[in-house]
Amino acid sequence: MNPHHVIKSISAPSDTMLFDRCMDWPALRCPVCGNNFSHAQAVYTLLGRGSESEGLYRGSYLVARETHGDRDAIAVRVHGETCGHRWDVVFQQQEGQTFVRIDVLDPRAGSGLKERRY
Ligand SMILES: [Zn+2]
Repeated sequence: MNPHHVIKSISAPSDTMLFDRCMDWPALRCPVCGNNFSHAQAVYTLLGRGSESEGLYRGSYLVARETHGDRDAIAVRVHGETCGHRWDVVFQQQEGQTFVRIDVLDPRAGSGLKERRY
């Protein structure tokens, strides 16, 4: 099973969908269930489809899918500690701005444990 398979893309997540507050510090929130316990697992490049793609971001792996944008995107893989959900926080370059979206990943493709091995 492809561990990078996206089952839902949330292109305009609200601030409260992205973050919870723990003692006033922003903490990532699971986009599926809202839980705020998570682990960042890896950093991937999603290649853009346009002529402005510049290839791999430094320090990242190439993931087996493209972004919908012309330019490249950085995907930070996150695993819910207690809920087991998996998602990418995606930073999509577009013109002079960096937009944030969430790609929810197929939970069946994860081991249920940390997945730094990918
Ligand atoms: Zn969850």
